This record gives sequence, C-alpha cells and structure tokens, in this order.
Amino acid sequence: MGFENILGNEKVFEQLNRFRTKSAFPPLLFWGRPGIGKRTTALTFAQILLCPKGDGCGLCRFCQEVSQLTHPDLRIIFPLPPRPNNEKERDLETIWRLRQKYALGATRPLIPKNYLIHLEDIHDLTSEMRFKPLSGKKRVVLIIDAERMRQEASNALLKTLEEPQPDTVFILLTSRFSFLPATIRSRCLPVYFPPLTDEMIAKYLYKIGYDEMAVKRALSFAYGSLRRALDFMNNPFPIPEEVLSLAFSPSIPSLLTLIDELRLTDWAETVENLILLFHSQLLKRFGLKDYETSYPEGFTTEELIARIDFLLHLQSDLEYNLNRRLFLFSFLTALLRKGKRK
Ligand SMILES: [Zn+2]
Repeated sequence: MGFENILGNEKVFEQLNRFRTKSAFPPLLFWGRPGIGKRTTALTFAQILLCPKGDGCGLCRFCQEVSQLTHPDLRIIFPLPPRPNNEKERDLETIWRLRQKYALGATRPLIPKNYLIHLEDIHDLTSEMRFKPLSGKKRVVLIIDAERMRQEASNALLKTLEEPQPDTVFILLTSRFSFLPATIRSRCLPVYFPPLTDEMIAKYLYKIGYDEMAVKRALSFAYGSLRRALDFMNNPFPIPEEVLSLAFSPSIPSLLTLIDELRLTDWAETVENLILLFHSQLLKRFGLKDYETSYPEGFTTEELIARIDFLLHLQSDLEYNLNRRLFLFSFLTALLRKGKRK
C-alpha cells in the first residue's frame, strides 16, 4: 500500500519516503490548491509511520484506525464553529460529526469562514504531548487548514514547534500558504503539492467509468484538482443559472430583485467556477486544451480576459468583504457592466 494509490505528486512521495526512516524531522507544511491530495497523503503517511509493519499496509487494525481517525496516536486539529457565548462545554457531537468528514476517502467539507482553530485546541494537544505515544512509536499531528488558527493559537503552537519533539510528527496543511504567519512558516519544512495534470485526472476518471465527453467537460473545471473534477461529475452545472444568465446575456430587468432572490451559500465557489469557466474557454480558444463545455462561448478573447481579470480582483476582495449584500451588489453590477461593454 503506501502512496501508490494516490494520484500524482511523485516528488512529494519521494521526499516523504526519505523521512519515514529518520528518527526525527522538522514539522512539515503541506501546501497547494484544495482537492489535490494533501490530506490523503498526510493520512497515508500517518499510516506508514504508525503501521507495525512499517509500510502502511492499509489492512491492519492500526492502519484502519488511522483511516477512520480513531488511532490514539493520531491527532487531527481542524477549524471548528464558534461556540455560543453562554456555552462553556464544547458540542462534542458536532465535533465528532465534522471530524468524520476528514477521514481517509471522505470528501472534505466546505468550511464556513467563521470556523477557526482555537487556543484550547492547541492546549489540548500540548497537554497530551506530555505523555509518550500510546503505541510506543510516533504521534502524528495533522493541523488541517492551518491558516485558520487564531493568533493566540498559532503563538501557542509556535512554542511547541520550537521545542524538539522527536516523538511527534507535525503536518500542517494549507491551501493558502501566504495566510499563515511567517513565524510558523519559517519553523516548518514546506512541501509543495503541484496541481495534478489533466492526464492524471482523466486517467482516474476513465478508470472509474466516465466517458470521453464527460471527462473533457469535467477537466474544464478541474484546474488540477481531483476533488473539483469529482464535484463537477456530481453537479455538472456548478454555476447558478441566474449568475450565468447575467454573465452571458446581461439584460436583467431588476438587479436588486435578483440579489434578493439569489440564495447562494458559497459565493467564493461561484466566483472561482466562473473564473475557471472563462479560463478554460480561453485555453480552448488558443488551441491549448481540448476541453468541452456545456456553457455558451460567445465572447471575444478580450472580453474573456477582461472577465477573468475582474473576477480575480473580486476574489481577493471577497476574502475581506463581510457584507454579503454589498458584495453581491458590486459583483452583479460589475458583471453587468462588463457584459454591456461588448
Ligand atoms: Zn498497517
């Protein structure tokens, strides 16, 4: 078993295979786009480190426990919802439910912006670290979406990372490298996960039974991410129709009515999908990719570039914009304006 069932990332596996025999190594920071196998690789590496056979057989009780996140020497820290003010105790049921979504083979959840990693999560970890690993081998700590650590949490973690921990292997995971405090980054060994190639994703999709047309369509949205390709197979129209009609034929009678009628839960996802849609049309236009798309293709090259440019700006605004209505207004008016320019 080990890494051979994971798609791509050969260089990463080589690097990790060199570490498996070492008695201690620096905290690792896995970074790269979402959906390209960071968590799968981290959990597989944990199996390798905790499997009594030393190869992550995937079959023994210990490997199974790692994949189900129930191994006593595997600690997984991930962003949690804010706790209502009057509640002292954590809602363990919610935590348990969320935790299962990070198991090996599970599709990780979309996490709302207000889910964070708190100081007490790090405190729980450090008090546990006073004891030897139960298995007598290693303790593996995975910190998922590490950029979501509150400042006091990352300060506390920093102290832990600064002390040598030969028993404990730290793996921090992030798709937003620059959002992590520089102090944390400088303590870790960055391990970059490049986007998967279209060929890798296509091969996988063919293997699980999709036909050529479906694969070509999914690739136009995958953008190096297997998870995006699989999401697309489940939902081939990831851009809400209202947004799409505005983006392609901008003659909407009442913008404000539209804003009120739209019921979107994840705007970031929608903006990203639009960027990828226009980008894949551009690649096809230049003959660089043989994508198929079920969306209209009526724009000139300049119009496509202008839309991508504007959406990329919007994407960075979205990181900070907390007023949903204001955001929607600027989003939709901008789309409308860009559209009318033709
Ligand atoms: Zn095993």
